Amino acid sequence: MARKIGKSNDGREMHFSAGVIVEHQGRYLMLDRKNPPFGFACPAGHIDEGESPEDAAKREVLEETAIKLSTVKLILEEEVPWNYCRSTTVHYWYLYKASSQSEEIILNKEEETSIGWYAVDEIKKLNLEPVWKYWLEKIKII
Ligand SMILES: [Zn+2]
Repeated sequence: MARKIGKSNDGREMHFSAGVIVEHQGRYLMLDRKNPPFGFACPAGHIDEGESPEDAAKREVLEETAIKLSTVKLILEEEVPWNYCRSTTVHYWYLYKASSQSEEIILNKEEETSIGWYAVDEIKKLNLEPVWKYWLEKIKII
């Protein structure tokens, strides 16, 4: 699938991303990214052409963790002018929240070097991917 492409406010080629903060009994699902930008992050990825942000959010969680979410709740959307990937320097983000009944997760070796459930105090000590440090501070989880 081709990723959805747009233009940022300042005219750069922009991708669209969806990410999900998944909670289970007071802990949050974090993974150590294998691809740049590096650092611990919540499940997230590019939105494909013709795909809804919500479907992309659920698909990324499934691909990266094997958790199947039936509902996700949109908490914010925002253009992040400094968030890069291999091919562009700006992304428009849709950020969701969800809770998982199950704590069973599967490591996807293509996407992450580790994955686990973390309490807030533990998240504060992780080397977070910049955009996730930004989100988690913005919504006051850390
Ligand atoms: Zn991108």
